[in-house]
Amino acid sequence: MTTDQPTVSVRRPGRLATALRALLTPTAAPAQWPADVVARFTTVGASAVDLHTHRFTTRYTPQGRPYVGDAREVDGYLWQCHGCAVTGSYGHYRDPYLPDEREQAHQDANDHAATCRAMPRPTA
Ligand SMILES: [Zn+2]
Repeated sequence: MTTDQPTVSVRRPGRLATALRALLTPTAAPAQWPADVVARFTTVGASAVDLHTHRFTTRYTPQGRPYVGDAREVDGYLWQCHGCAVTGSYGHYRDPYLPDEREQAHQDANDHAATCRAMPRPTA
């Protein structure tokens, strides 16, 4: 009677396998979220897009665009891609997102992450 046990080959990973594993291990995303990051998206290139709060001066009134008045400080939003270093902004004048435009900033950051193939520079 023969034993029909499958043959198991155990090999130590070679240098190529180790190099491939290192390439496939995502190192792009910063390990910890800074306090101002409210959302993070993974890009196609295994990097990260961070949506964060941003304090800035604007002339848009609390009604939002296009209403302008006296300058005031607000807590709005910006996003930045760690793969290609693009910073997201709103409209033709590339303004930061106003406090009530968080959903638009969220959508724009997610859209960028869905198409960005830039890989971050390895840190080691
Ligand atoms: Zn990008």
